[in-house]
Amino acid sequence: MDVLVTGAAGFIGSNFVHYLLREYEDIGVVSLDALTYAGSKENLNGVLDDPRHEFVEGDIRNRELVTDLVSDVDAVVNFAAESHVDRSIEGAEPFVTTNVGGTQTLLDAARDADVDRFLQISTDEVYGQILDGTFSEADALNPRNPYAATKASADLLAMSYETTYGLPVVVTRTCNNFGPRQHSEKLIPKFIQRAAAGDDLPVYGDGSNVREWIYVEDNCRALDVVLHEGEVGEVYNVGTAEERTNLDVTEAIIDAVDGSEEQISFVEDRPGHDQRYALDTAKIKGLGWEPTWTFEEGLARTVDYYTE
Ligand code: NAD
Repeated sequence: MDVLVTGAAGFIGSNFVHYLLREYEDIGVVSLDALTYAGSKENLNGVLDDPRHEFVEGDIRNRELVTDLVSDVDAVVNFAAESHVDRSIEGAEPFVTTNVGGTQTLLDAARDADVDRFLQISTDEVYGQILDGTFSEADALNPRNPYAATKASADLLAMSYETTYGLPVVVTRTCNNFGPRQHSEKLIPKFIQRAAAGDDLPVYGDGSNVREWIYVEDNCRALDVVLHEGEVGEVYNVGTAEERTNLDVTEAIIDAVDGSEEQISFVEDRPGHDQRYALDTAKIKGLGWEPTWTFEEGLARTVDYYTE
């Protein structure tokens, strides 16, 4: 199988490229990434010289480039996105042009090339917040920040290409990932580095917002399962039931690096900050996938990565 992985120099994309090249001997991977502030070619160190792998610096909004690259592959996995909620609140434009417009460009190219699979990588944030219980794939979308709204738009657009043109689309909606190669603007890497350096740890609001956490290796396995076994036209939630408040996460990091509770400072909450996300994962478990890392095991590995 030849796969185009977009956003391959970012956090999850790069982990997925490493994963594919490690798991499948007989695979070709083309990594496409615009190398925005969030992407780093270093994330692909170790596979840049692999003859089965090619890195292309470029933008998913570049129709000519994308059409050319997609014409040579069997499958597209679209990670490329503006991914930071706080930045989307400051300005939504790149979120709309990349997350929605870029996805459309890729979908058009995939349709022209008649690919066997188009895996759209999405997020639990498209459902909005849930105070009790879990969201299933059939629940309505209710995104509550500009980032989530652009991701929801891309999901709908991708699904519409399946219904309208028969493009073999599958969508995954995953909870919060953590692990190696994540940009230091995100909560866990930022707090590990700040806690270890003795700096303050600015927690939004009262720290009670709940997120469900998945170690990135478990997500890569889930995406692989959906890429190969997922049913066309279906959405799969990917979650772990490992729910933690932001304060729990902060305290676990402080413990792991021998920091002090006094480093915690509570700061003004993010506007429209969703209180809790939680996913029903019965559908992907029906494909035989289960998470294998607990939050604590994943955090220990992640702390080692950022402090070494
Ligand atoms: P990231 O910000 O680390 O990586 C995104 C990558 O996309 C970067 O390398 C960036 O350079 C690239 N990119 C941005 N705009 C581009 C463009 N126009 N053309 C080509 N490349 C471009 O993000 P991530 O955390 O790895 O997330 C990857 C995907 O997974 C995103 O679609 C995100 O919505 C989704 N997701 C992330 C999480 C999470 O917890 N991180 C959870 C669920 C879903």
